[in-house]
Amino acid sequence: MSKVIVLTGAGGVLCSTLASALSKEGHKIAVLDLRADAANKVADQINSEGGIAVGISADVLDKESLIEARNNVNQKLGSCDILINGAGGNHPLGTTSNTHLSEEDLINKEDGFKTFFDLDPSGIKFVFDLNFIGTLLPTQVFAKDMVGKKGCSVLNISSMNAFTPLTKIPAYSGAKAAVSNFTQWLAVHFAKVGIRVNALAPGFFLTDQNRTLLTTEDGELTPRGNTIIEQTPMGKFGEPEDLIGTTIWLCGEGASFVTGVVIPIDGGFSAYSGV
Ligand code: NAD
Repeated sequence: MSKVIVLTGAGGVLCSTLASALSKEGHKIAVLDLRADAANKVADQINSEGGIAVGISADVLDKESLIEARNNVNQKLGSCDILINGAGGNHPLGTTSNTHLSEEDLINKEDGFKTFFDLDPSGIKFVFDLNFIGTLLPTQVFAKDMVGKKGCSVLNISSMNAFTPLTKIPAYSGAKAAVSNFTQWLAVHFAKVGIRVNALAPGFFLTDQNRTLLTTEDGELTPRGNTIIEQTPMGKFGEPEDLIGTTIWLCGEGASFVTGVVIPIDGGFSAYSGV
């Protein structure tokens, strides 16, 4: 049955792929993104392939902007059945330069070098807001449409760093742990009104955000990229298409009794101890 699916951050790499795949399943798609041009481009592409999509500029940190987006979606596509909270990301101000602290680090005056002690609260707050508040607010706005209907659900995007934090990125790891925890909390809270709440925990996908961290200009792996591949039993980065099957399953009737789960899609990364 055709549903109205709202995806935030859908001008980005992963959720634009999900938007297009869900359209091919016959659903109507609302492509929300802070960047209007990116949202419209994804919607135009879906429409040109025979789907039904609208591109809407919305800020997941601004409730008024989300309410305006919901009115727009309701008018153009109908009330929301499924929300995918895809907007998220990291910030350099919430990132340390080194994996481990050493005594020398405290006297390192290299420009931009950051230990734990130099982390800027504004960077940490940016990352927590974008990933956690940016999941909570759209859910407050769009899940209201779902109460009293059947077959509705929320799908959050966590990360495998929510299970075990990745080195150097305490803010992003903590924020995604909050998203996973919130997924379970909300699944319980919404259980009696029939709204299922689940999350994907993607592993490493090469995107514009992390490409320069993981690969060099000639496409070789950086030391961090190399470590990731060595720690990934399947021995490769994920492709955005790897998220499609689980997304379709979790958003559909096949998962009608599944709520409160966070599913790693990471080539075995989170299952591997390294020995
Ligand atoms: P991306 O940067 O390509 O997409 C994120 C999108 O969110 C962008 O289009 C951006 O414009 C939008 N956005 C940013 N701030 C916003 C705001 N305030 N309001 C609305 N939209 C906003 O990133 P991606 O790799 O596609 O990531 C999608 C999700 O998957 C994120 O939550 C990310 O944290 C998560 N994730 C990514 C990876 C990976 O390896 N790429 C791994 C695990 C989890």
